Amino acid sequence: MLKICPICNQEFEGHGNRKFCSETCKDTDELLNRTKPEPEILFEERPRRESELDAKNAKARSKGLTYGQMEAMKYASEHRVEV
Ligand SMILES: [Zn+2]
Repeated sequence: MLKICPICNQEFEGHGNRKFCSETCKDTDELLNRTKPEPEILFEERPRRESELDAKNAKARSKGLTYGQMEAMKYASEHRVEV
């Protein structure tokens, strides 16, 4: 059954509850969800990884893309994803 990946909009052969075409897109989705605005308490203990992601987000935004789109495009070009 063909499904559409919500991260990179590629069609892929989806099995069962699989939502994403690849682990990369799944990870990207998790990262995006993790960086949504959160209660202030968490702000004090931000892991460094998040600020790195913020930097990537800022870089992606400067190109008019979301971080997820940028990663998806990078992934597609590196892995020559066939649709
Ligand atoms: Zn994908």
